[in-house]
Amino acid sequence: MESVLEDRARIGVPDAILLEDYLNESVFIDNLKKRYQQNIIYTYIGQVVISVNPYTDLGLYTEDCLEKYRNVNFYEVPPHVFAITENAYRSMVAETTDHCILISGESGAGKTEASKQVLRFLAATSLHRREMDRVRDRLLQSNPLLEAFGNAKTNRNDNSSRFGKYMDIEFNFKGDPVGGHILNYLLEKSRVVHQEEGERNFHIFYQLLAGAPDELLEKLHLQRDANNYFYLKQGESCTVDSVNDRADFEAVDHALDILSFTTEEQEAIWDVVGAILHLGNVAFKADDDGLARVKDETPIVNCSKLIGCDKDVLRKALTHRTIEARGDIVTSPLNPEQAVYARDALAKSVYERVFNWLVVRLNHSLESPESGRKTLLGILDIYGFEIFDKNGFEQFCINYCNEKLQQVFIELTLRSEQEEYYREGIEWEKVQYFDNKIICDLVEEKHKGIISLLDEECLRPGDATDLTFLNKMNSHLATHNHYFSYETSDNSKDEFSQKKRPVTAATQFKNSLAGLMTILMSKEPSYIRCIKPNDDKRSYYFDEERVSHQVKYLGLMENLRVRRAGFAYRRAYEIFLGRYKSVCPATWPKYNGPAKDGVMAIVQHLGYHPDDYRMGETKLFIRLPKTLFLTEDAFQKR
Ligand code: ADP
Ligand code: MG
Repeated sequence: MESVLEDRARIGVPDAILLEDYLNESVFIDNLKKRYQQNIIYTYIGQVVISVNPYTDLGLYTEDCLEKYRNVNFYEVPPHVFAITENAYRSMVAETTDHCILISGESGAGKTEASKQVLRFLAATSLHRREMDRVRDRLLQSNPLLEAFGNAKTNRNDNSSRFGKYMDIEFNFKGDPVGGHILNYLLEKSRVVHQEEGERNFHIFYQLLAGAPDELLEKLHLQRDANNYFYLKQGESCTVDSVNDRADFEAVDHALDILSFTTEEQEAIWDVVGAILHLGNVAFKADDDGLARVKDETPIVNCSKLIGCDKDVLRKALTHRTIEARGDIVTSPLNPEQAVYARDALAKSVYERVFNWLVVRLNHSLESPESGRKTLLGILDIYGFEIFDKNGFEQFCINYCNEKLQQVFIELTLRSEQEEYYREGIEWEKVQYFDNKIICDLVEEKHKGIISLLDEECLRPGDATDLTFLNKMNSHLATHNHYFSYETSDNSKDEFSQKKRPVTAATQFKNSLAGLMTILMSKEPSYIRCIKPNDDKRSYYFDEERVSHQVKYLGLMENLRVRRAGFAYRRAYEIFLGRYKSVCPATWPKYNGPAKDGVMAIVQHLGYHPDDYRMGETKLFIRLPKTLFLTEDAFQKR
């Protein structure tokens, strides 16, 4: 017992529900900080893992460590993403239920790293190792490939995910991983044509230039130096200290092989990536009539070669607009500004298509050859909440997505908690919390939500502009408590130019999110809540104010209160008895009575106060499993 107290002073408690003063935010944060300073980045709130980004390799994910977390009980090992993964995996196999692990937190907080470790743990879960190597390798190789095309250096994160990703891993009835499936969400394609200062385009462009063999670059008519390409150099940071583009190119090349992309497919990928770089270098000047003329033919020629299109056709496509009016096809010339816009629109849409095609192709590679019932374990890694000085349509979608995810968190943590107490016949008092549904409604409500208003403006023929949209929002939403008028200029250009399309990008996104929510709600969730300790990507620096802000908007204190009001530990009587019968003379060495009675004897023998536990229909509930935890030190010594 003494060592437990000593541990507490030094490394805090492994589960915040063990804090005496659990209502106090600074006590909570102090506990995280204490642990962080001892290189312990994980802490629980019940079965929610909080992870504080260490920004340095702490050796937490070695093969040894991975093995330590296999086949162990959640409460007997120190907090870790492996523990929550093992827990989800085990109940998936035991109960044949689908599970999902939801990872949230702002940009740079460590979501993608966590998701990779979860995948690694699961991919290596296999009783029949050898046969499963192929599946495991493919699952793992999907990461470097998608990251190359979907991640970029931003000012917040050198490897920031610019798309949302939900991946199901499929297991057969024996619990072996047999396949996978990926759903991708809204790629931030504006990055293809523009980057803010200090930021980069998607990794793949730089990787290709840095890592491709000379022959490939020659074939693509590309030069090694990324500064030659307008689409790559706008952020003025073509190289990143923490990123090795050359090595990463090798990794992508290898991944393409493992995922059995054919030579033709691989060539096609490089052709398109190269073509986009040439396209970005197509510049325009005005002729005497103010109409767009291509400045230099070379990029047009190179681009058209790579995409297999006649250079004259491409030139005309970039400098003219073709519309259909009352059955007639009318072509009219563009001015230079419009031509740049057309060029960029083409680049973005080509890139988006390549990305979507990659996902389709990947899914094909991950398809399970086994028929028969499979259980699923999903991993959700989305782009984190972000606010810039100037926020575009994409930030709007990203943050909306985060609100939806918070909604799932609220609904599922509270709902499942309450349902279980109800099922087991246990009374409990509801805890008040901030329900962000009001924010989601503001965005997505029919007729009066922001997306609806945007749709109306986009699809309205005539004079819809950024300003009319803003006025409309101001007049409809002015009285909403959570609405602040904001700038709409440029933000949604894409939308306004696509008046003919029946479904706008915003509505498409809303619908795909609704689909995702349905998937998540049908599964048993586990949570990893990632926290960013500072804004400088600095290791060993815990900025309390920054952390406090995240603790607030992630609703962690509320989460803790709900957990404390309820019962943190619960076990089926049989399992509890099997585990702890040896501590009580009434159940040891011999006991033949009903499990529930045996457990009652143990609990009384341990001297639990009646308020500290409840006997449910099938399970024992304990408010704070203080004495059930092994200390972290004890674990490490094992
Ligand atoms: P997010 O996906 O939340 O935006 P990432 O997972 O990409 O953030 O993490 C950003 C960076 O922080 C990573 O590139 C890595 O350098 C560092 N990092 C994140 N999690 C860990 C971890 N568990 N251990 C060590 N470094 C980490
Ligand atoms: Mg990420």
